[in-house]
Amino acid sequence: MAEFKSIGVIGAGQMGNGIAHVFAQSGYPVLMQDITEAFAAKGVATIDKNLQRGVDKGKMTADEKAAVLGRIRTTTSLEDLAACDLVIEAATEKWEIKKQIFETLDKVCRPGAILASNTSSISITKLAAVTKRPDAFIGMHFMNPVPVMQLIEIIRGLATSEATFEAVMELSKKLGKTPIACNDFPGFVSNRVLLPMINEAIYALYEGVASVESIDGIMKLGMNHPMGPLTLADFIGLDTCLFILNVLHEGLGDPKYRPCPLLIKYVDAGWLGKKSGRGFYDYSKA
Ligand code: NAD
Repeated sequence: MAEFKSIGVIGAGQMGNGIAHVFAQSGYPVLMQDITEAFAAKGVATIDKNLQRGVDKGKMTADEKAAVLGRIRTTTSLEDLAACDLVIEAATEKWEIKKQIFETLDKVCRPGAILASNTSSISITKLAAVTKRPDAFIGMHFMNPVPVMQLIEIIRGLATSEATFEAVMELSKKLGKTPIACNDFPGFVSNRVLLPMINEAIYALYEGVASVESIDGIMKLGMNHPMGPLTLADFIGLDTCLFILNVLHEGLGDPKYRPCPLLIKYVDAGWLGKKSGRGFYDYSKA
């Protein structure tokens, strides 16, 4: 079985820095790449802040925190990832960006190294096909926030080998996570089931069935969900929700996935949820 001595992470954003955090916390040396030193440094600063929360709560010592941070190095060059045994890509959700990253990684990484994508919605099979190693390519869909969430949705591309699948399942368990497998179809399982629920909640608002607070309150208390679907949409980002719904709509061809016009209007207005200060709720004073 493949041995993982060093891990590469592409993208130091929300997901990338979380992925680097959990690998480093489990003892793996991590090399995190982003397009600028400033982006990479911001990712490390977020990891530092999140680890500090653990120290403040007495869950880890200052020395342990320093050891975790000491296992994380950064770079702006994909060529530096040549020595990694597994590279997980968590760059911006755009086909052109991911395609170029994997074409380069395929050239620089040693034969046998595994390439993985954390994409929410782009086909793993299609990404694997830009490389000469589709058998050693897999989807590792971490949930946000990565250090907190238990699940990793493991997606087999059409050509993913059994050896790659087994090695990645095993590794995910070593991180203390629970990997659950599925096949490569639009939205995988998580977003195929979640996004229609969020979209339906937006339709309920659009059609005047109830207020934002009532829709969230009913779903939270009635279904025992930790947060309502409109709050969750604001957390995910309304642009991301729209993007994934479009992938489901185009990929599966069923009108039941059509994005609600209110969602499209909010995205057009720049109301993208928590990250822009305004979505279904107002975060400008938070
Ligand atoms: P983000 O915007 O926080 O971070 C993306 C990072 O990628 C940025 O730091 C950006 O500078 C970097 N980047 C862009 N182009 C690059 C390139 N060519 N090379 C290297 N780095 C590059 O986005 P995010 O929320 O962390 O999402 C990253 C990936 O994870 C996406 O594919 C997204 O679909 C997926 N994802 C997101 C969530 C979520 O809840 N946010 C959950 C699961 C999966």
